[in-house]
Amino acid sequence: MSSIWNDFLNLIFPPRPECPFCGRMSSRGDVCGPCRDVLRGYRRETCCQCCGRLPAGRVEPDGPGTLLCGDCRKRDWPFVLARSGGPYEGFLREVLHRFKYAGQRGLAPHLASLMVEAFRSEPYFSGVRVDLILPVPLSGEKLRQRGFNQAALLAGEVGNLLQVAVDRGILSKDFETPSQAGLNRSAREANLAGAFSVRYPERLYGRNVLIIDDVFTTGSTLAAVAAAIRQGGADRVFGLSVASVRFFK
Ligand SMILES: [Zn+2]
Ligand SMILES: [Zn+2]
Repeated sequence: MSSIWNDFLNLIFPPRPECPFCGRMSSRGDVCGPCRDVLRGYRRETCCQCCGRLPAGRVEPDGPGTLLCGDCRKRDWPFVLARSGGPYEGFLREVLHRFKYAGQRGLAPHLASLMVEAFRSEPYFSGVRVDLILPVPLSGEKLRQRGFNQAALLAGEVGNLLQVAVDRGILSKDFETPSQAGLNRSAREANLAGAFSVRYPERLYGRNVLIIDDVFTTGSTLAAVAAAIRQGGADRVFGLSVASVRFFK
């Protein structure tokens, strides 16, 4: 349908303002109260201080408000820390599917403001400057299939909100890695090693870099990207995603 015809219809039958996440009616089309309550509840849970994931069950904190998941205990990650808007479950999971696979790009600003809330509520970031934002790239093949890079859309919005430059030209994914689903961590990492490369390392030199992705699962993607850009000369690397999978131990 032509956009003029759509504009005309919208004028006669104004679209009912609804929550972008759950579809309930909401004034001005903002995220509704019940969705906000769920998100606030996530924010009150204690996350792993390194990867930012929330525990799947009851996990005793190591000290007052400090928690480290089993993976982060074992690993020496090439990134300092990662944070996300909430766990990959419920409406967040469903919304991410609509964004990524049904191409609902209009969700990007809402998802990005959720990410920025998570970023701002992490005290570490109040004492450190982020110089540059990079989205996790898609391979050329994936980009042709999907038509857009969801991480690049999110990075643009996050960059606007945080007033930090976004650079889409530095990182590239040179070949498609086999599907990560159903693979354990070492298989994922073997898959990803060497898939990312860095152009223009002079733009990275000594900079603190925030990497944007849609979902944080095992940390393998962020680790591969962080390793590549630190090799390229970046100083500190952080991750920020819409959602992250809960950890079990
Ligand atoms: Zn809602
Ligand atoms: Zn962790």
